[in-house]
Amino acid sequence: MEQTAKYNRVLVKLSGEALLGEGSFGISSQTVLYVAQEIKSICDLKIDVAIVIGGGNIFRGVQASVEGIDRATADYMGMLATVINALALQNALEKTDIPTRVQSAIEMRELAEPYIRRKAIRHLEKGRVVIFAAGTGNPYFTTDTAAALRAMEINSDIIIKATKVDGIYTADPVKDPNAKKYDTITYADVIAQGLKVMDLTAITLCKDNELPIIVLDLKNQGALKKAVLGDKVGTLVGGSV
Ligand code: UDP
Repeated sequence: MEQTAKYNRVLVKLSGEALLGEGSFGISSQTVLYVAQEIKSICDLKIDVAIVIGGGNIFRGVQASVEGIDRATADYMGMLATVINALALQNALEKTDIPTRVQSAIEMRELAEPYIRRKAIRHLEKGRVVIFAAGTGNPYFTTDTAAALRAMEINSDIIIKATKVDGIYTADPVKDPNAKKYDTITYADVIAQGLKVMDLTAITLCKDNELPIIVLDLKNQGALKKAVLGDKVGTLVGGSV
């Protein structure tokens, strides 16, 4: 029986860490292939899939600025790191026969299209995965904010934030054995309780525009597909169940 997706268009936010292997730096080609397979599993449901990828596995602006690089310069370096990740993911997706386009918020026409909203939507309509690289193109922002922004621009039904944790907890589950997982939570509670789901700019943007977010663990094979099918997985922020 053909499975029916709950959402027609989704934006998956992958952190740079999603591409890490055993180490704490760089890209593991094996992990990238795993991520590509998980993405393929939702493309097979015949929905539109866009991706925003981070760069934390290569470079983080804030950290580098503490070490002496100007914050804006460090942030541009961070944005370039996201382009490297985007190319690695595009390569892996195309190996699994998923046509993919990278659009960069910072122009580098030799290796990616510039970000053009209408063109991105056209790609999605034609069944291509679109990877948005270089964040928002502005320093002092994060790729979470880029995810919220792009999701709204392309009229995505939801943001799926694929992380290392299987949802949002009352406290850090690694440090607190009594921490409890939320199945659903409101934006207001995320903000009031200072829960580290996304940075404040990103979560506020989602709240103001009523864009729901599902937080799930990407390493949990099949979780991404479950989320798209509307099965109970991870934590849903905002929206109706
Ligand atoms: N960045 C930025 N503007 C953006 C998006 C990202 O300046 O719109 C920079 C920022 O320095 C950030 C780095 O790119 O630290 C990598 O992105 P992020 O930390 O969001 O990646 P993730 O944590 O998702 O791997």
